[in-house]
Amino acid sequence: MELIRLENIQKTYYRGELEIPVLQNVSLKVERGEMIALVGSSGSGKSTLMNILGCLDRPTGGKYRLDGQDISELSAEERAVVRNAKIGFVFQNFNLLARTSALQNVLMPFNYTAEHLAENETKERGEAMLQLVGLGDRMDHQPSQLSGGQQQRVAIARALINRPPVLFADEPTGNLDSRTAEDVLRIFQKLNEEEGITIILVTHDENVARHAKRIIRMKDGVIVEESVTAKPAAAGKTVPPGGPLPVKEVSTWAAIKKCHRIFRLSLHALRRNIMRSVLTCLGIIIGIAAVIAMMEIGRGSSHSIEQTIASLGANVIQMDPNDSVVGGVSSGGGGRVTLTPADAEAIRIECSAVKWVAPSVDCRAQAIYGSHNWNPDRILGTTADFLTIRKWALADGDVFTGEDVRSSAAVCLIGQTIGRQLFGGESPIGKEIRVKNVGMKVVGVLARKGANMMGRDQDDIIIAPWTTVKFRVTGVRSASSSGSAAAASTVNSLSQLYPNQSVQLFPQQSAVQAADMPQMTRFTDLDDVWISAASPADIPVAMRQITALMRERHHIQPGAPDDFRVRDLTELSQALASTSRVMTNLLLIVALISLVVGGVGIMNIMLVSVTERTREIGLRMAVGARARDILRQFLVEAVVLCLAGGVAGILLGRGISLAVTLLLNWPTLPSIPAIIAAVAVSVTVGIVFGYYPAWKASRLDPIEALRYE
Ligand code: ADP
Ligand code: MG
Repeated sequence: MELIRLENIQKTYYRGELEIPVLQNVSLKVERGEMIALVGSSGSGKSTLMNILGCLDRPTGGKYRLDGQDISELSAEERAVVRNAKIGFVFQNFNLLARTSALQNVLMPFNYTAEHLAENETKERGEAMLQLVGLGDRMDHQPSQLSGGQQQRVAIARALINRPPVLFADEPTGNLDSRTAEDVLRIFQKLNEEEGITIILVTHDENVARHAKRIIRMKDGVIVEESVTAKPAAAGKTVPPGGPLPVKEVSTWAAIKKCHRIFRLSLHALRRNIMRSVLTCLGIIIGIAAVIAMMEIGRGSSHSIEQTIASLGANVIQMDPNDSVVGGVSSGGGGRVTLTPADAEAIRIECSAVKWVAPSVDCRAQAIYGSHNWNPDRILGTTADFLTIRKWALADGDVFTGEDVRSSAAVCLIGQTIGRQLFGGESPIGKEIRVKNVGMKVVGVLARKGANMMGRDQDDIIIAPWTTVKFRVTGVRSASSSGSAAAASTVNSLSQLYPNQSVQLFPQQSAVQAADMPQMTRFTDLDDVWISAASPADIPVAMRQITALMRERHHIQPGAPDDFRVRDLTELSQALASTSRVMTNLLLIVALISLVVGGVGIMNIMLVSVTERTREIGLRMAVGARARDILRQFLVEAVVLCLAGGVAGILLGRGISLAVTLLLNWPTLPSIPAIIAAVAVSVTVGIVFGYYPAWKASRLDPIEALRYE
């Protein structure tokens, strides 16, 4: 039965203008079961012919039929499939994969088969092949632990693993001593006799040629002599029936298995050089770790900003005098009152988007209780609505009433810090503290609020009716500053502010009181007006309404600047958030740069690895890997490398942010999107920077790659 038919095969190499005819009209027929030695002096074209026979190279002219199939017409990819299914190669220099067990070396061609065998089936077949070449006890040995003869026997087992009908061996004994060579040749004979495998040996050694049944001599690219010494063996049992080759896989299951195989292959390749793999992904590890740590720290700080802002109250709008304008525009006769309680009242009545309004005045003074004294961060004069606006609950006692405000009652609420500093463990309710000689009864204790965004302790506060703070606590100071009739008249309008008051707002002072606290002129300028919009959506509306109303009330000409400032807290939070955003973005850029650097590192190492493994690539192509198999393998290697780096980076980043929380007490928050993004980024880096080396690998010519030193 005919296996191979060559008709007028020509091969001409071109070097520039020069034509080098290497094979000239070679015609040859090979039957199944033959064992042929191709002999000839060096340079006679044996290897060239062998490469054409082995579908590694294409003839310049002529026809080649293998197992009933016309090979000359096939594409590179189809030839790879033919190599995988129908041809076994044995090379002079064995071409085994280093740091890979004999068994895994033997199983290597399975990575490129169209049909898939089960895991244990492939293993069984590999073991059977190793037993066939007499290496049943060396399956787990690596090439470096095997002698030359043993290595060549592993290579033979590998060539046989797909049960090809024909085996090509190019100088298989060239690197072996004569005794080992004899052993290897005997294996070839056994394979030919017992398994019926057709064998074509290339050699320049007459002693080797003697083991064949037919000797073909070549000289200068032509066959010069043929001699038959024995009959071909009967076609053996391992020879699969001929027929069309399966080229494409269709089922998804096969595709999944293929992915799995490629993944395992890449992992194996990376494990062969573990130290280098780790160092290669260091850039990625650092980059991803930086990204993750930054994201977590950034998220933690913005979360804590959000929390502090929430603690300020919802829908809060704050209005205060615009000092820069007041200072710049001198109003002649002394200071000018800009924000008045009447303004606050007008806002409450006229602005529809406003829900609550609380005027407030600030002062600083020492507070004394018994033998304790304390300088509160803030003494705030306001109305009970302030607590509603700031969503500030009471821990104990009651809020002072509107009546208290009207009558400047000497009552106050104290924050947690004051309670602790002045009263210790005592209950402060009903006790009297002295502030600037005003005895104020504590009627309530505020709930804890914590630090604000500026880091100030919000609980270090005394809240009293604003009239009390303004007229009784700070009255002296105001009086001793400048006075103005206009301001004084505003004070008198207070009776219109609280028309239903039953108690006179400013009761007649006794002589002693007048001596103690001369309240001659009363300014009712406010330090702030706290306003709460009806809903978050109403905040901008409310701010517009307030601005319009205030400009009208203050007779501000169109185009002139406001003499007040209206701010909502989103502005404040945005300012704070933008600071942390700038920081995060800067650090993200640094992290991205390190990712690019890491990616370039990976590309570099992958290129080195492709060069270093050129022979391996050639071998893989010889046993049937198509260009895209090689591309996929190296690409997956790069991606796996990056992905491993990414995962390590995520863990390292988490570790860093945990350490930051523990050691520096910075708030951090894990971010799932950041982790997903990190994985996506590392895969992308792997694909982007791994593609070029992988593409280079896939473009290698199998013959050149095999010859690469
Ligand atoms: P051998 O019989 O020793 O195996 P080869 O088949 O390797 O001989 O080479 C046959 C001739 O073809 C040699 O003269 C060699 O110089 C030439 N040759 C082989 N490969 C190439 C190539 N890629 N480019 C040009 N000439 C080549
Ligand atoms: Mg040669």
